[in-house]
Amino acid sequence: MLRRSGLVRAPDTERVHLAAAFRWMARFGFHEGVANHSSVCADGKSMLVNPGSRHFSKLRASDMVAIDVDASASTAAEKGIDPTAFALHSVLHRRFGEKARCLVHAHPVNATALSALKDKTLPAIDQNCARFFNRVKVDHEFLGMAMEDEPDRLASAISPLGNERVILMGNHGVTTLGPSIGDALDTLYYFERACAIYMTAKSTGMELSVMSDEVAEKTAQQWENEFGGCGQQHFAELLRILDEEEPQYKM
Ligand SMILES: [Zn+2]
Repeated sequence: MLRRSGLVRAPDTERVHLAAAFRWMARFGFHEGVANHSSVCADGKSMLVNPGSRHFSKLRASDMVAIDVDASASTAAEKGIDPTAFALHSVLHRRFGEKARCLVHAHPVNATALSALKDKTLPAIDQNCARFFNRVKVDHEFLGMAMEDEPDRLASAISPLGNERVILMGNHGVTTLGPSIGDALDTLYYFERACAIYMTAKSTGMELSVMSDEVAEKTAQQWENEFGGCGQQHFAELLRILDEEEPQYKM
């Protein structure tokens, strides 16, 4: 149960799911020191985000910080939110609304390596890569950390946003979007897997066997249709494991 000012209220699903997502990001190796951030904005006004300078592996539901997306940077600082977390996520929630309901931002090694290549295309060389065929929004620029004008520049660069669930951020990392935090985490998991497969195949120096556009598109649609619920199923299993092994994440 979450405790606030002496009151006890029912567990908040979004807080619990965020805490679970952070703990799994640590397990997956998607964390970076005590940096990086994820958020949920269900009503377009208030977002939940992780506190700055805390390790993902220890975060609990009650640690998540609520803040208005229109709040000032100084208010975010007073609440202990990383300035880049507030700047980036508040802009994306405001600009993209429901499409950006849940945002997971990280610098996993292989996706970040792809963001560092001049050609940031992820070729469809296996079914994980094909899942993202023509489905990644790429920002080719990087003008410094996500503060000052950089989040607005990024948001303009990726506008208009279609149905893409992945924003590949040049020389930086990746942000995934989803209707739920579980979906956004699953997308990040598979995108990083896809990038790992691509980087491994590319590092051999041998010629890549790339699917035709038709097969890549068909496979991407199969992911979306036949396996459209796999993100939810994946996250449900991840929750089950945490429930057994570290149930304090829900507190
Ligand atoms: Zn970042």
